[in-house]
Amino acid sequence: MKISIIGTGYVGLVTGTCFAETGNYVTCIDIDKGKVDSLMSGKIPIYEPGLEVLFQRNQREGRLKFTTNLTEGIKGSTVIFLALPTPPNEDGSADLNYVIDVAGKLGSLISEYTIIVNKSTVPVGTTELVRNTVSQKANFEFDVVSNPEFLREGVAVEDFMKPDRVIIGTSSEKAADLMKELYAPLVRQGNPVLIMDERSSEMTKYAANSFLATKITFMNEVANLCEILGADVDMVRKGIGTDSRIGKRFLFAGIGYGGSCFPKDVQALAKTADEANYDFKILNAVMSINESQKIKLIQKIKTYFNQDLKEKTIAVWGLAFKPYTDDIREAPSLANIQELVKEGAVVKAYDPEAAENVINLSLPKVVVCKDEYEALKDADALLIVTEWPVFRTPQFERMKSLMKNRVIFDGRNLYELDTMRKYGFNYISIGRKEIHD
Ligand code: NAD
Repeated sequence: MKISIIGTGYVGLVTGTCFAETGNYVTCIDIDKGKVDSLMSGKIPIYEPGLEVLFQRNQREGRLKFTTNLTEGIKGSTVIFLALPTPPNEDGSADLNYVIDVAGKLGSLISEYTIIVNKSTVPVGTTELVRNTVSQKANFEFDVVSNPEFLREGVAVEDFMKPDRVIIGTSSEKAADLMKELYAPLVRQGNPVLIMDERSSEMTKYAANSFLATKITFMNEVANLCEILGADVDMVRKGIGTDSRIGKRFLFAGIGYGGSCFPKDVQALAKTADEANYDFKILNAVMSINESQKIKLIQKIKTYFNQDLKEKTIAVWGLAFKPYTDDIREAPSLANIQELVKEGAVVKAYDPEAAENVINLSLPKVVVCKDEYEALKDADALLIVTEWPVFRTPQFERMKSLMKNRVIFDGRNLYELDTMRKYGFNYISIGRKEIHD
């Protein structure tokens, strides 16, 4: 099949590359010329494990092309995917301008039956909106399909190539058949392709992300109570995670969720509910808890240093919103750094992949270091924000010799309490006993 992808970011590039890998001829379109130039010269502008091998093979074999030209890019394509940004508006609703702008152009550009597939996360009713927008200028038959994406950054290729399920929202049998054909190579193990109405499909994406954000937040609340009552949230996690009704995943307590999806999707669903005059109470609680959870350790750092962080040097390990990505959108690290700097501290930060993105922000009083140990030199404390594997078994003796104070504030519960005792660290984590000399 010949297909086009409009928007070549995390979702668009992975979608395009993976569909090329299954034998389709794919053109990825983006308005960012720098990004397209880089891709055309064989360089991927994001960090995504496993993507490069597929990208290079398919580009070399002529199945994966890039352009900034929309007219050229969609020529001859049966299926056009929209993988465009849907950032939050000030009131929390999803900004649909990117999607509607492109839809407005597509009408006059399609010259045969075309399926326009929306992969962006969009509120219920957007498929209809896109259809109406395209139809204003369209002279040919077309269908608009909702096909939300569930890939996770960091494991995006694996998620895309082996999806738990594929959701296709359409009432057109013709479109559904073509979509099933396109996805068939990815669901050979029998994972379902669920065909449903457009509105349910759009809602499924928001419900999935909001549920996961709620699960994380619930566990963070349990952790906060564990701290007060002297219980250990890690034990509680194991205790409840083994219950098959609950499941082991998304139960790790920490300093909140971030990233380009959970925060904006929870907000957007709350706004949708608001507009429908439905008081979706739990979502409002989730958002407010997560905001305070993100900077929960700042209070503890301040207490530790008698409310005075002026000229204190705080090492921060982890800047990406989660491991295996360079994405810093809505990363808890940024909220923490902002608070630390506001209190007068100097931050020495390290991240295996997201360093450059933070350097580009030119944050005052923030030094981005070349490795985790450089960040620790003369640090008054270490704050762990992202659970990169490299932080899990560090050289504790070396850490001690580099730091001014042996104190770790761990937002991801990376270490056993006994290990911290053994090495003589003061150790403050989430939902567990604090260790002090
Ligand atoms: P992104 O910001 O990484 O990529 C979007 C791309 O679209 C950018 O490269 C931008 O330059 C391009 N673009 C903007 N306007 C354009 C136009 N008019 N024509 C062509 N290109 C244009 O965003 P993303 O993370 O890939 O997310 C895209 C959508 O997918 C969002 O709705 C998001 O919520 C959803 N989503 C994201 C993820 C994720 O993990 N990132 C997962 C599932 C769903």
